[in-house]
Amino acid sequence: MPADSWTAGDLVIQRIDETELPPQTGPWLLPDATPDLVSGEPSLRPGFADDRGTLRLTTHSFAITTGGLRVLVDTGIGNGKTRANPAWHDLDTPYLSRLAAAGHSPEDIDLVVLTHLHTDHVGWNTRPDGADWIPTFPNARYVTSRAEWDHWAAADMDEPRKAMFRDSVHPIRDAGLLDLADVPPQGVEVAPGVRLLPTPGHTPGHVAVSLGDGAALITGDCVHHPVQLRRPDITSCVDIDPRQAVETRRRLLASLAGTGTLLLGSHFPAPTGGLVERDGETFRLVPAAG
Ligand SMILES: [Zn+2]
Repeated sequence: MPADSWTAGDLVIQRIDETELPPQTGPWLLPDATPDLVSGEPSLRPGFADDRGTLRLTTHSFAITTGGLRVLVDTGIGNGKTRANPAWHDLDTPYLSRLAAAGHSPEDIDLVVLTHLHTDHVGWNTRPDGADWIPTFPNARYVTSRAEWDHWAAADMDEPRKAMFRDSVHPIRDAGLLDLADVPPQGVEVAPGVRLLPTPGHTPGHVAVSLGDGAALITGDCVHHPVQLRRPDITSCVDIDPRQAVETRRRLLASLAGTGTLLLGSHFPAPTGGLVERDGETFRLVPAAG
C-alpha cells in the first residue's frame, strides 16, 4: 500500500504508519471523551471513532519533501524497546519498510523534528545495534525546542522515563546530532518552509510544525484527536499543564479556521488530515484524504 500523501506546490507530505493504539487508549488518554459524547458526534465516524463511541488513535510519522530536503516529523514508539505500557513494549512493526516504500531510506533523511520528548514521539530516533542503541537516521540533524530539553533536564524523572531518554534521546545527543531550537512566540524556521510554533501545555516546550508558508500544520500532541475540535476543553491525562493546553488548542484552532491550512494530526488515523472550520463556539474538521 502506498503511503497516504498530500501535496501543495513542491511540498509533499506522506504519512508513515507505525501502529494502531488499542481501544483502551482513548478512555485512558482523553477520559472526558466518553462513549456517549463521542457517539453524539457522527462526523467522527467511521475514521476517527467506532459505532460504540470508542476513539481510534494511531502512531505515525510524517515524511516531508520540500526544496530538496527530506524531513521526518516525530518518530513513534520504535521497535524492541522495553516499555511499561504493554501497547508500546517491544514492538516489531515494519515502520522502516513503510518508510522505504514511501521512497526514503534512513540515510536519506536530512532533518528529524521532534514535537516533544514523549515516548511515542522519539522511539525511532534509534535502533538496536548489539547491546547499544544507535541513531536510525545517521545523516540527519535532529531538532527539538530548547524549552523542551530544559524541562526534562530539570525534571525528577521516574525510572521508565529515564530509560526512554537513555535508549531514544541520549544516543542522538551523544552522536552530536541533536540541535536545540529557541522558539519565540512567532515561531522559528528550522529549514526552508519548516517552522516550529510554540504550543505549550501538553509539555512546556511542545511545538507544532508549520509547513510551506501555512500550507499544512502538524499538531504533535496539542490536539490528540479530532474530538478536541468539537470540544477543545477535553484534556489529556498526560498534559503537564492542562489549562494551558486548552488555551493553546483554542488559539491554534482559531488561527487555522477558514484559512485552508491542512491540519495533520500526529495521532489521527486515516484520513488524518483536514481543514478546520469554525462551528459556533467550537470547530470541526472537514477531512482531506491523502
Ligand atoms: Zn503522543
